[in-house]
Amino acid sequence: MAGQLHVYFLPVGQGDATAIRCPDGSLNLYDWGSNTASRKNFWAAKELRCYLKGSIGDITSIVVTHHHCDHYNLLPDTLNEPRELEKLKNIYISCKEANMKSALTDWVKKINDFRTDENRNLKKTEQHELMKVELINDGEPCGPIKTKAGVEHKSCGQIDLCSEKTVDVYVDVLAANMGGACTDGSHLNEASIVTKITFEKISILLSGDFEDPTPTEDAKYHQWAMSDYYNNDDTKPDLKSTIYHAAHHGATYRANKEVWLKGIAPKAVVSSGDPHYHYGHPRCKLFDPRLKNVKSLCQHDASCPKGSKKQNTYTCGDENGPSEIKDNKLAIYTTVFYITAPKKEPERHLNLIDVAITKSTVAGNAGSWTITPTVVKKIPKGKKKKATPSP
Ligand SMILES: [Zn+2]
Ligand SMILES: [Zn+2]
Repeated sequence: MAGQLHVYFLPVGQGDATAIRCPDGSLNLYDWGSNTASRKNFWAAKELRCYLKGSIGDITSIVVTHHHCDHYNLLPDTLNEPRELEKLKNIYISCKEANMKSALTDWVKKINDFRTDENRNLKKTEQHELMKVELINDGEPCGPIKTKAGVEHKSCGQIDLCSEKTVDVYVDVLAANMGGACTDGSHLNEASIVTKITFEKISILLSGDFEDPTPTEDAKYHQWAMSDYYNNDDTKPDLKSTIYHAAHHGATYRANKEVWLKGIAPKAVVSSGDPHYHYGHPRCKLFDPRLKNVKSLCQHDASCPKGSKKQNTYTCGDENGPSEIKDNKLAIYTTVFYITAPKKEPERHLNLIDVAITKSTVAGNAGSWTITPTVVKKIPKGKKKKATPSP
C-alpha cells in the first residue's frame, strides 16, 4: 500500500531473512541466510523465491550485516536469474570485499557478467550499470568506538535502502566493522552493520549478530557505548527504537545485554532463530527477565498499537532445552514456535512477521504501526498460489 513501509521477517530457521518494502515500492533485502533452512524444512531458497515472485524486479539494495553464512547463503539460489534483477544496484557489506565468501562473490560476478554481456548490444545510454559492492565506511570501524581516551565517534553515514525520492525514510547506520573482525577475522559478529530505519517517527532497529567481545554484563563495550553515546547526544539519531529485531537471533551470552536493551527500550521485539537448533535461539533469558526491565514493552493492552496481532505462543531456548511459553503477555514475536500436545512430538509453526508503518493523514503527526504474525506453510505448488503471501 502506498504510504506504508513494511518490514517482513521470514521463517528461515536459525538465520535471518528480512525483506523491506519501501513506500515508493522498492524492495530491499536485509540479510538472507540460514543454517537450517534446507535440512530442517524451513523456508529455503525455493520458498523465498516463490514468496518474492513478481517482486524480484523491485529489489534495489541488499545488506549483508556480516560474513556468516546464516546471513547470506540463500541469496545466490533465491536470486539465481540475473535477467530478473533489473533494478538491483548494490550490496552493502561490512569489513572488506576480501572477506566475502566465494558463494557471494561468484554470485555478484554472475550478475555483472550478465550485464556486461548485454551491454555489448546496447547503446551507451541504454547500458546497465554494474552492481556495486558497497563497504560501510570503507571497512573501517564506525559508530562509538572505545579508545584509551574514551569513546570516539565515527559516523557510518546513511544507506540508500529506499530510493532517494522517498526522503522521509531515514536509514542510519549506527555501527559497523567493530572489533578486530575486519583486520584479523576474530569474532565476526561484532562487525555487524547496525541499522535504524525511521519512517514517520516510528523506528525499527536491525542489528545482525551485533554483540560484545565479552559476556561480562558490566563491561563497558560496544553495547554500552551505543546506548550511552546515541541516547545522550541530540545531534545523533537515538538508539531508542520502537521495534527491535533482536541481535544475534536473541542470544544472551554476549548480545542483548541489559544496558543495550534499556537503551533501545523497544515496544515490540522480533526474533529469528530456531530454539530446537542446538544454539537455542532466542534465549528465554532475553524475555524473562531482561526485557521485563524494558518498561515500554507493550503488554497487548491499550498501550499496544491498534490492529496489532498478538502471538499467543512462543518458544525460547533454555539451559535444559526449548521452553514453550503459552501465554505471551509481552509483544514478543518469533519466526518459529512449537506446540507440544501430551505424548506427541512438538508441532512446528512457521511464522511470517509483518511490521507495517503507516503515514499519518495529519502533516507533522507521527505515523502509526502494527505488527502481524501469520502462520505460513511451506509454500504450496500450483492451485493454492493465491493464498501465498508476498512482500
Ligand atoms: Zn547469525
Ligand atoms: Zn554471525
